[in-house]
Amino acid sequence: DERRGVVTLRISVIGTGYLGATHAACMAELGYEVIGLDVDASKLTALAAGILPFHEPGLPELLRKHVASGRLRFTDSYAEAAAAADIHFITVGTPQRADSQSADMSYVDGAVDSLLEHITGQALIVGKSTVPVGTARRLTERIAANALPGSEITLAWNPEFLREGFAVKDTLTPDRLVYGLSDTEPHGFGLRKIREVYAPILERGTPEIVTDLETAELVKVAANAFLATKISFINAFAEVTETVGGDIKTLADAIGHDSRIGRRFLNAGVGFGGGCLPKDIRALQARVSELGLSHTMGFLAEVDQINLRRRDRVVSLASSMLGNELAGKHICVLGVTFKPDSDDVRDSPALDIAVRLYNAGADVSVYDPQGNKNAAGRFPRLHYVDSWQEAAKDTDIVLLLTEWQEFRDLDPTELGEVVSTRALIDGRNVLDRQAWRVAGWTITGPGEYFQV
Ligand code: NAD
Repeated sequence: DERRGVVTLRISVIGTGYLGATHAACMAELGYEVIGLDVDASKLTALAAGILPFHEPGLPELLRKHVASGRLRFTDSYAEAAAAADIHFITVGTPQRADSQSADMSYVDGAVDSLLEHITGQALIVGKSTVPVGTARRLTERIAANALPGSEITLAWNPEFLREGFAVKDTLTPDRLVYGLSDTEPHGFGLRKIREVYAPILERGTPEIVTDLETAELVKVAANAFLATKISFINAFAEVTETVGGDIKTLADAIGHDSRIGRRFLNAGVGFGGGCLPKDIRALQARVSELGLSHTMGFLAEVDQINLRRRDRVVSLASSMLGNELAGKHICVLGVTFKPDSDDVRDSPALDIAVRLYNAGADVSVYDPQGNKNAAGRFPRLHYVDSWQEAAKDTDIVLLLTEWQEFRDLDPTELGEVVSTRALIDGRNVLDRQAWRVAGWTITGPGEYFQV
Protein backbone atom coordinates (compact mmCIF):
# COMPACT_ATOMS: atom_id res chain seq x y z
CA ASP A 1 0.00 0.00 0.00
CA GLU A 2 1.77 3.14 -1.22
CA ARG A 3 0.92 6.82 -1.23
CA ARG A 4 3.12 9.18 -3.21
CA GLY A 5 5.83 6.56 -3.11
CA VAL A 6 5.89 6.55 0.69
CA VAL A 7 5.05 3.50 2.73
CA THR A 8 1.70 4.08 4.44
CA LEU A 9 1.94 5.26 8.00
CA ARG A 10 0.74 2.87 10.69
CA ILE A 11 -1.13 4.64 13.42
CA SER A 12 -2.87 3.71 16.64
CA VAL A 13 -5.41 5.89 18.43
CA ILE A 14 -5.72 5.07 22.14
CA GLY A 15 -9.21 5.96 23.45
CA THR A 16 -12.00 6.05 20.89
CA GLY A 17 -14.42 8.57 22.39
CA TYR A 18 -15.51 11.84 20.77
CA LEU A 19 -11.94 12.86 20.03
CA GLY A 20 -10.37 9.46 19.37
CA ALA A 21 -13.05 8.02 17.09
CA THR A 22 -12.94 11.20 15.03
CA HIS A 23 -9.16 11.23 14.90
CA ALA A 24 -8.97 7.56 13.94
CA ALA A 25 -11.46 7.90 11.08
CA CYS A 26 -9.78 11.07 9.83
CA MET A 27 -6.34 9.44 9.89
CA ALA A 28 -7.77 6.62 7.77
CA GLU A 29 -9.22 9.26 5.45
CA LEU A 30 -5.69 10.64 5.02
CA GLY A 31 -4.70 7.22 3.73
CA TYR A 32 -3.12 5.61 6.76
CA GLU A 33 -3.53 2.20 8.33
CA VAL A 34 -5.25 2.88 11.62
CA ILE A 35 -6.05 0.81 14.69
CA GLY A 36 -8.30 2.27 17.39
CA LEU A 37 -8.03 0.97 20.93
CA ASP A 38 -10.42 1.36 23.83
CA VAL A 39 -11.20 -0.38 27.11
CA ASP A 40 -14.97 -0.07 26.59
CA ALA A 41 -16.09 -3.29 24.94
CA SER A 42 -19.51 -2.05 23.82
CA LYS A 43 -17.94 0.97 22.13
CA LEU A 44 -15.50 -1.29 20.29
CA THR A 45 -18.21 -3.66 19.11
CA ALA A 46 -20.18 -0.77 17.64
CA LEU A 47 -17.16 0.91 16.01
CA ALA A 48 -15.89 -2.35 14.53
CA ALA A 49 -19.32 -2.84 12.95
CA GLY A 50 -19.05 0.64 11.44
CA ILE A 51 -21.60 2.10 13.86
CA LEU A 52 -20.74 5.35 15.60
CA PRO A 53 -21.89 5.13 19.25
CA PHE A 54 -22.47 8.91 19.49
CA HIS A 55 -23.79 11.72 17.31
CA GLU A 56 -21.34 13.64 15.15
CA PRO A 57 -22.30 14.94 11.68
CA GLY A 58 -20.28 13.38 8.83
CA LEU A 59 -18.44 10.92 11.04
CA PRO A 60 -20.65 7.82 10.50
CA GLU A 61 -19.94 7.97 6.77
CA LEU A 62 -16.15 8.15 7.28
CA LEU A 63 -16.24 5.37 9.85
CA ARG A 64 -18.25 3.05 7.58
CA LYS A 65 -16.05 3.82 4.58
CA HIS A 66 -12.80 2.98 6.30
CA VAL A 67 -14.02 0.00 8.32
CA ALA A 68 -15.23 -1.40 4.99
CA SER A 69 -11.93 -0.63 3.24
CA GLY A 70 -10.04 -2.39 6.04
CA ARG A 71 -7.93 0.68 6.67
CA LEU A 72 -9.54 1.22 10.07
CA ARG A 73 -9.93 -1.48 12.68
CA PHE A 74 -10.43 -1.68 16.43
CA THR A 75 -9.02 -3.66 19.31
CA ASP A 76 -8.82 -3.84 23.08
CA SER A 77 -5.31 -5.26 22.96
CA TYR A 78 -2.31 -3.03 23.61
CA ALA A 79 -0.06 -5.80 22.29
CA GLU A 80 -1.92 -5.64 19.00
CA ALA A 81 -1.84 -1.84 18.84
CA ALA A 82 1.88 -1.74 19.62
CA ALA A 83 2.58 -4.29 16.91
CA ALA A 84 0.30 -2.66 14.34
CA ALA A 85 1.64 0.90 14.62
CA ASP A 86 4.67 2.99 15.41
CA ILE A 87 2.81 6.26 15.89
CA HIS A 88 0.43 6.20 18.87
CA PHE A 89 -2.03 9.00 19.54
CA ILE A 90 -3.27 9.27 23.13
CA THR A 91 -6.89 10.48 23.10
CA VAL A 92 -8.25 9.15 26.40
CA GLY A 93 -10.35 11.28 28.72
CA THR A 94 -9.04 13.75 31.32
CA PRO A 95 -12.27 14.50 33.24
CA GLN A 96 -12.53 16.55 36.39
CA ARG A 97 -11.81 14.47 39.48
CA ALA A 98 -14.77 13.82 41.75
CA ASP A 99 -12.92 15.11 44.82
CA SER A 100 -11.30 18.29 43.42
CA GLN A 101 -11.04 20.72 40.51
CA SER A 102 -8.02 18.87 39.08
CA ALA A 103 -7.99 16.73 35.97
CA ASP A 104 -8.03 12.99 36.53
CA MET A 105 -4.80 11.86 34.90
CA SER A 106 -5.22 8.15 35.60
CA TYR A 107 -6.46 7.36 32.08
CA VAL A 108 -3.54 9.09 30.35
CA ASP A 109 -1.01 7.52 32.70
CA GLY A 110 -2.67 4.13 32.32
CA ALA A 111 -2.66 4.32 28.53
CA VAL A 112 1.02 5.26 28.40
CA ASP A 113 1.98 2.54 30.88
CA SER A 114 0.09 -0.07 28.87
CA LEU A 115 1.79 0.99 25.65
CA LEU A 116 5.20 0.87 27.30
CA GLU A 117 4.71 -2.78 28.15
CA HIS A 118 4.50 -3.64 24.46
CA ILE A 119 6.55 -1.17 22.41
CA THR A 120 9.76 -2.90 21.37
CA GLY A 121 11.20 -0.74 18.57
CA GLN A 122 11.26 2.91 17.60
CA ALA A 123 7.96 4.68 18.21
CA LEU A 124 6.36 8.08 18.58
CA ILE A 125 3.71 8.69 21.23
CA VAL A 126 1.63 11.77 20.49
CA GLY A 127 -0.50 13.11 23.33
CA LYS A 128 -3.71 14.80 22.18
CA SER A 129 -5.74 14.78 25.39
CA THR A 130 -6.04 18.12 27.20
CA VAL A 131 -3.67 17.95 30.16
CA PRO A 132 -2.24 20.09 32.96
CA VAL A 133 1.02 21.80 32.01
CA GLY A 134 3.96 19.64 33.01
CA THR A 135 2.28 16.34 32.10
CA ALA A 136 4.41 15.66 29.03
CA ARG A 137 7.61 16.35 30.96
CA ARG A 138 6.41 13.97 33.67
CA LEU A 139 5.50 11.31 31.11
CA THR A 140 8.91 11.64 29.44
CA GLU A 141 10.48 10.59 32.73
CA ARG A 142 7.99 7.76 33.09
CA ILE A 143 8.84 6.56 29.60
CA ALA A 144 12.59 6.73 30.28
CA ALA A 145 12.11 4.69 33.45
CA ASN A 146 9.68 2.06 32.16
CA ALA A 147 10.29 1.53 28.42
CA LEU A 148 11.32 -1.97 27.40
CA PRO A 149 15.02 -2.46 26.74
CA GLY A 150 15.82 -1.88 23.06
CA SER A 151 12.85 0.39 22.49
CA GLU A 152 13.32 4.01 21.49
CA ILE A 153 10.31 6.17 22.30
CA THR A 154 9.78 9.85 21.53
CA LEU A 155 6.93 11.85 23.07
CA ALA A 156 5.19 14.80 21.42
CA TRP A 157 2.20 16.86 22.54
CA ASN A 158 -0.30 17.82 19.87
CA PRO A 159 -3.36 19.46 21.46
CA GLU A 160 -6.70 19.09 19.73
CA PHE A 161 -9.01 22.02 19.04
CA LEU A 162 -11.92 20.26 17.35
CA ARG A 163 -15.46 21.32 18.17
CA GLU A 164 -18.18 18.70 18.62
CA GLY A 165 -20.64 19.17 15.81
CA PHE A 166 -17.78 20.13 13.44
CA ALA A 167 -15.31 17.45 14.49
CA VAL A 168 -14.53 16.00 11.05
CA LYS A 169 -14.11 19.37 9.39
CA ASP A 170 -11.99 20.67 12.26
CA THR A 171 -9.73 17.61 12.13
CA LEU A 172 -9.21 17.58 8.37
CA THR A 173 -9.08 21.37 7.94
CA PRO A 174 -7.94 22.77 11.29
CA ASP A 175 -7.23 26.48 11.90
CA ARG A 176 -3.71 25.49 12.93
CA LEU A 177 -1.60 22.53 13.96
CA VAL A 178 0.36 22.80 17.19
CA TYR A 179 2.95 20.32 18.36
CA GLY A 180 5.34 20.40 21.23
CA LEU A 181 8.47 18.28 21.29
CA SER A 182 11.40 18.11 23.66
CA ASP A 183 13.64 18.15 20.60
CA THR A 184 12.42 20.47 17.83
CA GLU A 185 15.42 19.78 15.63
CA PRO A 186 13.95 19.51 12.07
CA HIS A 187 15.49 16.11 11.38
CA GLY A 188 14.61 14.70 14.77
CA PHE A 189 12.47 11.57 14.67
CA GLY A 190 9.45 13.11 16.43
CA LEU A 191 9.07 16.21 14.28
CA ARG A 192 9.78 14.31 11.07
CA LYS A 193 7.13 11.70 11.87
CA ILE A 194 4.42 14.11 12.97
CA ARG A 195 5.00 16.23 9.85
CA GLU A 196 4.62 13.07 7.78
CA VAL A 197 1.27 12.39 9.47
CA TYR A 198 -0.04 15.89 8.84
CA ALA A 199 1.59 16.39 5.42
CA PRO A 200 -1.72 16.37 3.49
CA ILE A 201 -3.09 19.05 5.85
CA LEU A 202 0.12 21.12 5.93
CA GLU A 203 0.29 21.09 2.14
CA ARG A 204 -2.89 23.16 2.06
CA GLY A 205 -1.12 25.98 3.88
CA THR A 206 -2.44 25.22 7.39
CA PRO A 207 -0.41 27.23 9.93
CA GLU A 208 2.03 25.00 11.82
CA ILE A 209 3.34 25.87 15.26
CA VAL A 210 6.30 23.82 16.42
CA THR A 211 7.15 24.45 20.03
CA ASP A 212 8.19 22.91 23.32
CA LEU A 213 6.05 20.55 25.38
CA GLU A 214 4.92 23.11 27.97
CA THR A 215 3.79 25.65 25.39
CA ALA A 216 1.84 23.01 23.48
CA GLU A 217 0.02 21.95 26.64
CA LEU A 218 -0.70 25.56 27.60
CA VAL A 219 -1.95 26.60 24.15
CA LYS A 220 -4.95 24.34 24.53
CA VAL A 221 -5.98 25.46 27.99
CA ALA A 222 -5.28 29.10 27.13
CA ALA A 223 -7.60 28.86 24.12
CA ASN A 224 -10.37 27.34 26.23
CA ALA A 225 -9.84 29.83 29.08
CA PHE A 226 -10.15 32.68 26.58
CA LEU A 227 -13.33 31.30 25.02
CA ALA A 228 -14.91 30.68 28.44
CA THR A 229 -13.99 34.21 29.49
CA LYS A 230 -15.55 35.68 26.36
CA ILE A 231 -18.83 33.90 27.05
CA SER A 232 -18.89 34.90 30.70
CA PHE A 233 -17.92 38.46 29.78
CA ILE A 234 -21.10 38.96 27.76
CA ASN A 235 -23.14 37.05 30.33
CA ALA A 236 -21.93 39.42 33.07
CA PHE A 237 -23.28 42.29 30.97
CA ALA A 238 -26.50 40.29 30.53
CA GLU A 239 -26.89 40.39 34.30
CA VAL A 240 -26.62 44.17 34.15
CA THR A 241 -29.14 44.63 31.32
CA GLU A 242 -31.51 42.24 33.08
CA THR A 243 -31.67 44.82 35.85
CA VAL A 244 -31.42 48.19 34.11
CA GLY A 245 -32.83 47.35 30.69
CA GLY A 246 -30.96 47.57 27.41
CA ASP A 247 -30.46 45.10 24.60
CA ILE A 248 -27.65 42.59 25.09
CA LYS A 249 -27.67 41.51 21.43
CA THR A 250 -27.24 45.06 20.19
CA LEU A 251 -24.47 45.57 22.74
CA ALA A 252 -22.70 42.44 21.48
CA ASP A 253 -23.17 43.49 17.84
CA ALA A 254 -21.81 46.93 18.56
CA ILE A 255 -18.66 45.84 20.41
CA GLY A 256 -18.27 42.88 18.04
CA HIS A 257 -17.72 45.20 15.09
CA ASP A 258 -14.41 46.11 16.66
CA SER A 259 -12.17 43.54 14.99
CA ARG A 260 -10.01 43.40 18.12
CA ILE A 261 -13.04 42.05 19.95
CA GLY A 262 -15.00 40.13 17.30
CA ARG A 263 -18.66 39.11 17.44
CA ARG A 264 -18.27 35.35 17.84
CA PHE A 265 -18.75 33.75 21.28
CA LEU A 266 -20.47 36.90 22.51
CA ASN A 267 -23.95 35.43 22.79
CA ALA A 268 -25.65 35.84 26.13
CA GLY A 269 -27.36 32.59 27.07
CA VAL A 270 -27.51 29.77 29.58
CA GLY A 271 -23.73 29.60 29.62
CA PHE A 272 -21.10 27.14 28.52
CA GLY A 273 -20.93 23.46 29.39
CA GLY A 274 -19.73 20.22 27.85
CA GLY A 275 -16.80 17.93 28.45
CA CYS A 276 -14.17 20.63 27.89
CA LEU A 277 -14.56 24.30 28.89
CA PRO A 278 -15.81 23.84 32.48
CA LYS A 279 -13.33 21.14 33.45
CA ASP A 280 -10.47 22.80 31.57
CA ILE A 281 -10.76 26.14 33.38
CA ARG A 282 -11.03 24.32 36.70
CA ALA A 283 -8.04 22.07 35.98
CA LEU A 284 -6.02 25.13 34.99
CA GLN A 285 -6.80 26.85 38.30
CA ALA A 286 -5.89 23.67 40.17
CA ARG A 287 -2.62 23.36 38.26
CA VAL A 288 -1.45 26.95 38.77
CA SER A 289 -2.36 26.61 42.42
CA GLU A 290 -0.06 23.55 42.69
CA LEU A 291 2.63 25.73 41.12
CA GLY A 292 2.08 28.45 43.75
CA LEU A 293 0.51 30.72 41.13
CA SER A 294 -3.16 30.67 42.06
CA HIS A 295 -3.32 34.50 41.79
CA THR A 296 -2.64 34.31 38.03
CA MET A 297 -5.87 32.54 37.14
CA GLY A 298 -8.09 33.90 39.91
CA PHE A 299 -10.32 35.52 37.29
CA LEU A 300 -11.30 32.07 36.03
CA ALA A 301 -13.11 31.43 39.32
CA GLU A 302 -15.25 34.47 38.45
CA VAL A 303 -15.73 33.21 34.90
CA ASP A 304 -16.99 29.93 36.34
CA GLN A 305 -19.30 31.66 38.84
CA ILE A 306 -20.81 33.99 36.22
CA ASN A 307 -21.39 30.94 34.06
CA LEU A 308 -23.15 28.97 36.80
CA ARG A 309 -25.33 31.97 37.74
CA ARG A 310 -26.85 31.79 34.24
CA ARG A 311 -28.50 28.54 35.25
CA ASP A 312 -29.85 30.06 38.47
CA ARG A 313 -31.29 32.90 36.40
CA VAL A 314 -33.31 30.59 34.15
CA VAL A 315 -34.65 28.63 37.11
CA SER A 316 -35.72 31.77 38.98
CA LEU A 317 -37.18 33.31 35.83
CA ALA A 318 -39.24 30.16 35.24
CA SER A 319 -40.38 30.26 38.82
CA SER A 320 -41.48 33.90 38.69
CA MET A 321 -43.28 33.35 35.38
CA LEU A 322 -45.13 30.48 37.04
CA GLY A 323 -46.32 32.54 39.98
CA ASN A 324 -43.34 31.74 42.22
CA GLU A 325 -44.38 28.11 42.44
CA LEU A 326 -42.64 25.30 40.57
CA ALA A 327 -44.20 22.34 42.37
CA GLY A 328 -46.81 20.65 40.25
CA LYS A 329 -46.16 22.87 37.21
CA HIS A 330 -45.82 21.31 33.76
CA ILE A 331 -42.62 22.42 32.10
CA CYS A 332 -41.45 21.68 28.57
CA VAL A 333 -37.65 21.62 28.09
CA LEU A 334 -36.41 21.78 24.51
CA GLY A 335 -32.79 20.68 24.29
CA VAL A 336 -30.62 18.89 26.87
CA THR A 337 -27.28 18.67 25.11
CA PHE A 338 -24.65 21.30 25.93
CA LYS A 339 -24.85 22.52 22.36
CA PRO A 340 -26.65 21.66 19.11
CA ASP A 341 -25.42 18.98 16.66
CA SER A 342 -24.01 16.88 19.48
CA ASP A 343 -25.48 14.25 21.80
CA ASP A 344 -23.05 15.24 24.56
CA VAL A 345 -24.72 16.09 27.88
CA ARG A 346 -21.55 16.32 30.00
CA ASP A 347 -21.93 19.36 32.28
CA SER A 348 -24.82 20.55 30.14
CA PRO A 349 -26.50 23.74 31.42
CA ALA A 350 -29.75 22.61 29.79
CA LEU A 351 -29.82 19.28 31.60
CA ASP A 352 -28.80 20.91 34.88
CA ILE A 353 -31.68 23.39 34.61
CA ALA A 354 -34.16 20.60 33.76
CA VAL A 355 -33.03 18.58 36.78
CA ARG A 356 -33.25 21.58 39.12
CA LEU A 357 -36.83 22.24 38.01
CA TYR A 358 -37.66 18.59 38.57
CA ASN A 359 -36.07 18.68 42.02
CA ALA A 360 -38.24 21.71 42.82
CA GLY A 361 -41.31 19.58 42.18
CA ALA A 362 -42.13 20.43 38.57
CA ASP A 363 -43.25 17.86 36.05
CA VAL A 364 -40.56 18.20 33.35
CA SER A 365 -40.98 16.90 29.78
CA VAL A 366 -37.80 16.86 27.74
CA TYR A 367 -37.19 16.60 24.04
CA ASP A 368 -33.78 16.75 22.39
CA PRO A 369 -33.16 15.63 18.79
CA GLN A 370 -30.09 13.57 19.83
CA GLY A 371 -29.51 13.91 23.55
CA ASN A 372 -32.43 12.06 25.20
CA LYS A 373 -30.56 8.80 25.56
CA ASN A 374 -27.45 10.22 27.22
CA ALA A 375 -29.55 12.48 29.43
CA ALA A 376 -31.78 9.58 30.49
CA GLY A 377 -28.62 7.62 31.32
CA ARG A 378 -27.76 10.32 33.86
CA PHE A 379 -31.19 11.43 35.04
CA PRO A 380 -33.76 8.77 34.23
CA ARG A 381 -36.54 10.49 36.18
CA LEU A 382 -37.23 13.32 33.73
CA HIS A 383 -39.97 12.56 31.25
CA TYR A 384 -38.21 12.08 27.90
CA VAL A 385 -40.30 12.20 24.72
CA ASP A 386 -39.63 11.95 21.00
CA SER A 387 -40.95 15.23 19.63
CA TRP A 388 -41.44 18.84 20.63
CA GLN A 389 -45.19 18.36 20.19
CA GLU A 390 -45.25 15.71 22.89
CA ALA A 391 -42.92 17.65 25.17
CA ALA A 392 -44.98 20.83 24.93
CA LYS A 393 -48.40 19.22 25.26
CA ASP A 394 -50.46 21.00 27.93
CA THR A 395 -47.41 22.63 29.54
CA ASP A 396 -47.41 25.85 31.56
CA ILE A 397 -44.11 27.11 30.17
CA VAL A 398 -41.61 26.20 27.44
CA LEU A 399 -37.84 26.50 27.97
CA LEU A 400 -35.65 26.52 24.86
CA LEU A 401 -32.24 25.59 26.26
CA THR A 402 -30.21 24.24 23.31
CA GLU A 403 -30.41 26.01 19.97
CA TRP A 404 -31.00 23.09 17.61
CA GLN A 405 -32.10 24.26 14.16
CA GLU A 406 -35.39 22.42 14.75
CA PHE A 407 -36.11 24.80 17.64
CA ARG A 408 -34.94 27.91 15.81
CA ASP A 409 -37.49 26.98 13.14
CA LEU A 410 -40.40 26.54 15.58
CA ASP A 411 -43.59 28.25 14.52
CA PRO A 412 -45.18 30.26 17.36
CA THR A 413 -48.72 29.47 16.24
CA GLU A 414 -48.13 25.73 15.93
CA LEU A 415 -46.42 25.52 19.32
CA GLY A 416 -49.12 27.77 20.77
CA GLU A 417 -51.80 25.25 19.80
CA VAL A 418 -50.12 22.51 21.84
CA VAL A 419 -49.28 24.24 25.12
CA SER A 420 -51.65 25.19 27.88
CA THR A 421 -50.01 28.62 28.45
CA ARG A 422 -48.08 30.64 25.88
CA ALA A 423 -45.04 31.38 28.01
CA LEU A 424 -41.49 30.79 26.84
CA ILE A 425 -37.93 31.37 28.01
CA ASP A 426 -35.59 31.53 25.04
CA GLY A 427 -32.40 30.53 26.83
CA ARG A 428 -30.29 31.02 23.71
CA ASN A 429 -31.85 34.21 22.36
CA VAL A 430 -32.58 32.69 18.97
CA LEU A 431 -36.30 33.38 18.52
CA ASP A 432 -37.72 36.54 16.99
CA ARG A 433 -39.36 38.28 19.94
CA GLN A 434 -41.75 40.30 17.79
CA ALA A 435 -43.14 37.31 15.87
CA TRP A 436 -43.71 35.35 19.07
CA ARG A 437 -45.38 38.25 20.88
CA VAL A 438 -47.70 38.83 17.95
CA ALA A 439 -48.73 35.16 18.27
CA GLY A 440 -49.71 35.80 21.88
CA TRP A 441 -46.61 34.58 23.68
CA THR A 442 -44.99 35.94 26.79
CA ILE A 443 -41.36 35.46 25.89
CA THR A 444 -38.08 36.49 27.48
CA GLY A 445 -34.47 35.41 27.63
CA PRO A 446 -30.97 36.12 28.93
CA GLY A 447 -30.09 39.80 29.12
CA GLU A 448 -33.71 40.97 28.97
CA TYR A 449 -35.33 43.18 31.54
CA PHE A 450 -38.46 41.25 32.45
CA GLN A 451 -41.23 41.74 34.94
CA VAL A 452 -44.13 39.39 35.38
P1 NAD B 1 -14.49 10.50 25.89
O1 NAD B 1 -14.84 10.21 27.27
O2 NAD B 1 -15.56 10.61 24.84
O3 NAD B 1 -13.45 9.42 25.35
C1 NAD B 1 -12.40 8.90 26.11
C2 NAD B 1 -12.25 7.41 25.76
O4 NAD B 1 -11.05 6.89 26.34
C3 NAD B 1 -13.40 6.53 26.26
O5 NAD B 1 -13.96 5.82 25.18
C4 NAD B 1 -12.73 5.62 27.27
O6 NAD B 1 -13.33 4.33 27.32
C5 NAD B 1 -11.32 5.56 26.74
N1 NAD B 1 -10.30 5.12 27.72
C6 NAD B 1 -10.21 5.42 29.03
N2 NAD B 1 -9.13 4.83 29.57
C7 NAD B 1 -8.52 4.15 28.58
C8 NAD B 1 -7.34 3.35 28.50
N3 NAD B 1 -6.55 3.16 29.56
N4 NAD B 1 -7.01 2.81 27.31
C9 NAD B 1 -7.79 3.02 26.22
N5 NAD B 1 -8.90 3.75 26.23
C10 NAD B 1 -9.26 4.32 27.40
O7 NAD B 1 -13.65 11.87 25.92
P2 NAD B 1 -13.36 12.90 24.73
O8 NAD B 1 -14.40 13.94 24.68
O9 NAD B 1 -13.03 12.15 23.49
O10 NAD B 1 -12.05 13.63 25.30
C11 NAD B 1 -10.79 12.99 25.28
C12 NAD B 1 -9.73 14.05 25.53
O11 NAD B 1 -9.74 14.98 24.45
C13 NAD B 1 -9.94 14.90 26.79
O12 NAD B 1 -8.68 15.22 27.33
C14 NAD B 1 -10.59 16.14 26.25
O13 NAD B 1 -10.37 17.27 27.07
C15 NAD B 1 -9.89 16.30 24.92
N6 NAD B 1 -10.63 17.04 23.90
C16 NAD B 1 -11.94 16.75 23.65
C17 NAD B 1 -12.62 17.46 22.69
C18 NAD B 1 -14.10 17.23 22.46
O14 NAD B 1 -14.72 18.07 21.79
N7 NAD B 1 -14.69 16.17 22.95
C19 NAD B 1 -11.97 18.45 21.96
C20 NAD B 1 -10.63 18.70 22.21
C21 NAD B 1 -9.96 17.98 23.19
